[in-house]
Amino acid sequence: MALEEYKRKRDFKKSPEPEGTVAPKRTERFFCVQKHLASHLHYDLRLEHNGVLLSWAVPKGPSLDPKTKRLAMHVEDHPVAYGEFEGVIPEGYGAGIVMLWDKGTWTPEQDDVDAALKKGDLKFTLNGYKLKGSWVLVKTSGRFYGAREGGEGRSWLLIKHKDDWAGDVDIAEFAPRSVKSDGDFEDILAEDNPAIWHTNRPAKGGDTGKMFEKIIARAAALKSARGTDDTKGTKDTKKKTVRKSTPSKKKAAAKKK
Ligand code: MN
Repeated sequence: MALEEYKRKRDFKKSPEPEGTVAPKRTERFFCVQKHLASHLHYDLRLEHNGVLLSWAVPKGPSLDPKTKRLAMHVEDHPVAYGEFEGVIPEGYGAGIVMLWDKGTWTPEQDDVDAALKKGDLKFTLNGYKLKGSWVLVKTSGRFYGAREGGEGRSWLLIKHKDDWAGDVDIAEFAPRSVKSDGDFEDILAEDNPAIWHTNRPAKGGDTGKMFEKIIARAAALKSARGTDDTKGTKDTKKKTVRKSTPSKKKAAAKKK
């Protein structure tokens, strides 16, 4: 499309000018899904396009069942570098834990992605670890059940097309862990600081609050078991004991003699 005008004006049988080709449009690009436990658990689907990651927050996560349409709230574009991020957001916007739940490539099934987005009907193929095959994102009229306040105009539906990769496996439950670290939320938090939300966690009440409570406790236990926690660690205490005993190196040396 970008060269149509250029081509229309020229007869390449007569002109020595190069006809030129537009870079193929249905090229593979990066995609990821980040499982994000914040004020609510959701799955952020991100598709690389024009140098950014187009992003949709999917509260229930993707479904492999073509009959199950999942609400996907269109959110702000993210930098491409964000696509590999996994870790803890201590405070502020999105405070919580981010897990790289799936990643791979996506290929548009339409030539003009921008037109498809504008129309609100983007068909694409995913080649991730967990999500594969053909999918569609369809913009809704904005009053779809489950859309939160202020969500008008931002609500889309994520739907799996029927193909070999469709099925009734609950993929979020079947494959809950990170494709980056193989860890669960508690492992990711244990790598960071389990005590971070000791007084003020991202969600206090309801199911999310309970989830945070469990994860924080498990992360603290994991960290403690690994001995990397300065206050409760076991290995660290041992290290200190070793360090304390280093002055006796002379004694050890003396014994050797
Ligand atoms: Mn998010």
